[in-house]
Amino acid sequence: MSLIFELIEARKVELARRQPSLDFLPFSTAELLTKIHAELFPDVSQTVDVYFVARGPLACIGHTSESASIYIHQLLNHSETPFAVISSILKHELLHLRIPSTSEHGRKVQHSPEFWAAEREIAPERHSAWAWVEINLWTCLRRRPKLQRIDVRANWKTVWNQPRTDIAICEQTIREQRAAIYGEQAGEQGCW
Ligand SMILES: [Zn+2]
Repeated sequence: MSLIFELIEARKVELARRQPSLDFLPFSTAELLTKIHAELFPDVSQTVDVYFVARGPLACIGHTSESASIYIHQLLNHSETPFAVISSILKHELLHLRIPSTSEHGRKVQHSPEFWAAEREIAPERHSAWAWVEINLWTCLRRRPKLQRIDVRANWKTVWNQPRTDIAICEQTIREQRAAIYGEQAGEQGCW
């Protein structure tokens, strides 16, 4: 997940959000955002909205000093997307408003060690959320480390139509895989 820095990209996402879409999730993303904002981010003064869009990264946020928009890819607008996935995305994106990017050797660093430490504190569900994403969606995702984001590939509609593996099974599978590779001290996952 990343901040939108490129103006052209921001404009494309802005256009995409105007295309109306049905909400397939079994819970209200907007209500969840309001709850997380009030309970965990009372210091964030911007008004924040959330939109599903059919382009761009898996999730990102654009903001001014008064308002912010979180964009989640339509790939996740699905009846079997777990609550934990959406809640950890919303927490991650709101955290970008609290902990702005820094600059290191002329390069923008969106996810500083401070950012990751804060995320670990407020989003323990991120491990299971990541496990679910890795098992269910990885064939249509592309990690872009230099851009510090994950893009959704053009084949996402095929993946959208496939049944999902339950989040508890995903978590167990990924834990076993990591333990087999790294031993019990498996490392942190990367960014969204
Ligand atoms: Zn991020």
